[in-house]
Amino acid sequence: MVIVGAGFGGLAAAKALVRKPIDVTIIDKRNYHLFQPLLYQVATADLSPADVAWPIRGIFSKDENVSVLLGRVTDIDTKGAQVIAGELEVPYDYLILATGSRHTYFGKDEWEPYAPGLKRIIDATELRKRILVAFERAETAGDEAEQRRQLNFVVIGGGPTGVEMAGAIARS
Ligand SMILES: Cc1cc2nc3c(=O)[nH]c(=O)nc-3n(C[C@H](O)[C@H](O)[C@H](O)COP(=O)(O)OP(=O)(O)OC[C@H]3O[C@@H](n4cnc5c(N)ncnc54)[C@H](O)[C@@H]3O)c2cc1C
Repeated sequence: MVIVGAGFGGLAAAKALVRKPIDVTIIDKRNYHLFQPLLYQVATADLSPADVAWPIRGIFSKDENVSVLLGRVTDIDTKGAQVIAGELEVPYDYLILATGSRHTYFGKDEWEPYAPGLKRIIDATELRKRILVAFERAETAGDEAEQRRQLNFVVIGGGPTGVEMAGAIARS
C-alpha cells in the first residue's frame, strides 16, 4: 500500500493500517506533518513553527510496517502500478492519494503578493513578519493617523481561518 501525502487524510489512513499484515509506504514532499488548524497562531507569533510540524518518521517510529519517503510525486503509472517521485519509482498494490488542496484567488491571482494564503509554514512566517513589522512601524509612527494606518489589518474571508486570524490579531 502506498499513501501519497501525510496530511490529515494520509495520516488517518496510515494509522488505521499500523501493525496490520500489510506494508505501508508514505510519500510526502515534506518530511513533516503540518497541523494546519494552528497555522494562524504561528502567523500571530503565539506559536513557533516547530509547534505545528511533526516529523512523519517520528509519528510512525514504532510501527515496523510503515516506511516514509521524501519525494514530490509528479506522476502515477497506473499501468505499471508505480508512483513516480523524481528518481523514485515506488510500486504499489493499492494507492491512496491524499495530497490536499491549495488556496485559490478565484481568478484574482494578482492579489497574492498583497494577501498571501495560509496553508504552509512559509505562509505563516511571512504573515507574522508583516504583522510584526506593522507593529514596529506603528511604534515609531510620527502621528496618530500613520499609527492607525499601520495597525489597520484587513482579513479577506470570514470562514474559520479568517475569523481565527482576526481574533488573534485583535488580541496582539
Ligand atoms: C489555516 C487553516 C486552519 C484550519 N482549521 C481547521 C480546523 O479548525 N478544523 C478542521 O477540521 N480543519 C481545519 N482546516 C482544514 C484542514 O487542515 C484540512 O481540511 C486538512 O488539512 C486536509 O487534509 P488533507 O490530508 O486532505 O490535506 P493536507 O493536510 O493539506 O495534506 C496534504 C499532504 O500532501 C502532501 N503533498 C501534496 N502534494 C504532494 C505531492 N505532489 N507529492 C507528495 N506529497 C504531496 C503535502 O505535503 C501534505 O503533507 C484548516 C486549514 C487551514 C489552512
